[in-house]
Amino acid sequence: MPTEPIRYVTKVDLTKPGDQQPHLHNRWHPDIPFAETIKPGETVKIECLDWTGNQIKNNDTADDILNVDLSRIHYLSGPFNIEGAEPGDALVVEIKDVQPLERQPWGYCGIFHKKNGGGFLDKFYPEAAKAIFDLEGIHATSRHIPHVKFTGLIHPGIMGTAPSAEVLKEWNSREIGLINDIQHQHETNVANGPLETNSHPGSATGTLALKIAKEGARTIPGRPENGGNCDIKNLSRGSKCYLPVYVDGAKLSVGDLHFSQGDGEISFCGAIEMPGVITIKVSIIKGGIKKLSLKSPIFIPGDVQNHYGPSRYLTFEGFSVDEAGKQQYLCATTAYRQACIRAIEYLRKFGYNDYQIYLLLSSAPIEGHIAGIVDVPNACTTLGIPMDIFDFDISPEGNFEEKDMKNCAFVEGAKHSVTYDYK
Ligand code: ZN
Repeated sequence: MPTEPIRYVTKVDLTKPGDQQPHLHNRWHPDIPFAETIKPGETVKIECLDWTGNQIKNNDTADDILNVDLSRIHYLSGPFNIEGAEPGDALVVEIKDVQPLERQPWGYCGIFHKKNGGGFLDKFYPEAAKAIFDLEGIHATSRHIPHVKFTGLIHPGIMGTAPSAEVLKEWNSREIGLINDIQHQHETNVANGPLETNSHPGSATGTLALKIAKEGARTIPGRPENGGNCDIKNLSRGSKCYLPVYVDGAKLSVGDLHFSQGDGEISFCGAIEMPGVITIKVSIIKGGIKKLSLKSPIFIPGDVQNHYGPSRYLTFEGFSVDEAGKQQYLCATTAYRQACIRAIEYLRKFGYNDYQIYLLLSSAPIEGHIAGIVDVPNACTTLGIPMDIFDFDISPEGNFEEKDMKNCAFVEGAKHSVTYDYK
């Protein structure tokens, strides 16, 4: 029997904004119309835009990062009708491959301005910055972060099924509840409720489009019920992911493809973001939610992984004593931030500025782990940098020679301190 060619269920246009492409959408809602139907057992290719929908350009300024419109993100491909899937089932999504598009062999990592998006270290690095990466086969290099080359552990940042009307209601009520409870204590958004502005409801029009705009959940957080924006770097080629189904046809969506990412995706625009194509095969486990006790997605990583030798990671320890010297109680977030700061202080000795290192920790295959979470009062985390991604020796036994590391892209004329004094 002749083998059928692999079918593309979506193609994207890199010259048009995402909201002019009806097989994409940027909110979670059960009523977004199906983009296409996929049969269980069928292998298909899905093209995706980068998460901002073509807003970021390959140049040497960060103007586009500064002015990025976050009401538009994320542009996801779908939702797909998985034939026969019903509420209560589980989808098994096998990630057969992920690749950049041949027509755009580059990606970007950005640091959002503190007043527009921010990121994990925006207290110290408030300015917008950007690094463009050239993608050559399995390798990434950047003119904005010289002397580094690494292999991408390529993956989708977002994969998820649509919420039912009940699940969506639950999301909105608990996230708006959080905003009401604690927003006043914070400078930046603690969560984002539904936003009508720039809602893209796929092919929906008229009153349906308006309903989706009013009720649709933002795609920014991952959520326990459907996964969504999990940003798990190990959900790479060969992985199998098990997702709960809440609506007929499952309404599977995928997007936010990453050529590479460090654990934590710390700068928020923090992976090597790119448009690309993902190849998947989907099957259904009937009654899978009950059978697997599937209250959140589970996955089995694929057998394509980075092979930087396990003994070749320079690993920084971080504890939950914050940068002001204040004792925090078992806070893994504080502890991981401290591990990042320790890595920045170390790598700047070679001539990189802090923004370049922040971009690198976001986008390179960094291993972040929780070590101890019970030894009161300190949580301990680790951040491991593969030493072999540098073309010089960064080990503690090396000679710490400062090099000309050029610069990442900034906004022209912006006042930025490239070295933060942590004391
Ligand atoms: Zn992303």
